[in-house]
Amino acid sequence: MSAHITGLHHVTVLASDAAHNLAFYAGILGLRLVKQTVNFDAPDVYHLYYGNEHGVPGTILTFFPYKGLARGRRGKGQATVIALSISIHAIEYWLQRFQKFHVRHHAPYQRFGGELVLACEDSDGLALELVANTQDTRSGYASGYIPADYAIKGLYGVTLCEEAYEHTARLLVDTMNYQHTAEQDHRMRFSVSGTPGTFVDIVCSPDSLRGLNGSGTIHHLAFATANDHSQHQIREALLQRGFNVTPILDRQYFHSIYFREPGSILFEVATSDIGFTVDEPVEQLGTALKLPPWYESKRSALEQVLEPLEFRSEQFRD
Ligand code: ZN
Repeated sequence: MSAHITGLHHVTVLASDAAHNLAFYAGILGLRLVKQTVNFDAPDVYHLYYGNEHGVPGTILTFFPYKGLARGRRGKGQATVIALSISIHAIEYWLQRFQKFHVRHHAPYQRFGGELVLACEDSDGLALELVANTQDTRSGYASGYIPADYAIKGLYGVTLCEEAYEHTARLLVDTMNYQHTAEQDHRMRFSVSGTPGTFVDIVCSPDSLRGLNGSGTIHHLAFATANDHSQHQIREALLQRGFNVTPILDRQYFHSIYFREPGSILFEVATSDIGFTVDEPVEQLGTALKLPPWYESKRSALEQVLEPLEFRSEQFRD
């Protein structure tokens, strides 16, 4: 048993349009754009990060907006739903906001006794849930136009759609510091100490089609670990269990390893001790294109292919 995973770090999604993405996540949902950078493996594509004021691990959603990318298909072998955490008092506010901004959503329903789930979709059809609960003590980003009491507090959890659960469950419990904490209607919940921001739900759906990558689908989910030392220990434990783990990669704001879990979903383990203020102060997070040192020499060429991001917050007031 390894005690080195502390919960979720971020979730990364494929999208089709940077401007629409910014309007939905910063505008309608009121998250903070905490970093504008590029996909380090394809630098002509943005990598946009949203989170709370500081973009702390467990609050982060990230997107690769490939212009015009065709929609993907949700299915087994994918993480299929991202749940975001809100206060138990915030459901009515978000229902009204979704109606006002024409966000596709469903009527709220109760799950696992204490949580109220408001399911919706983003502009690429990504399945999201706002989960109203009483346990989350984190504060959301006080953006000025989402009242602080109603602001999204960060990630709540992620749903994995799997052919079968046993090997994935064993990985989470034996190597990743997770416990099996609840079960309801074929949904098995795993968490680190029962805390919002750590939940991983496995839903077995052997009869569904396999998922296909495309816009509106989740590319990978990242778990958080404290630092390089704990990451190294997790990497060794995964190797001993037979997983093919990448070398440690420098992602500028964290260090990362990647591997495929037994159901073939891409998992990452990212360090928590660097963060988004490494290249700009907290007041300026997300306001300018930031490049890692190895791409600075290509800045002017990249700025010509990346469309400028414009965002007018006054469009998104209640
Ligand atoms: Zn990642």
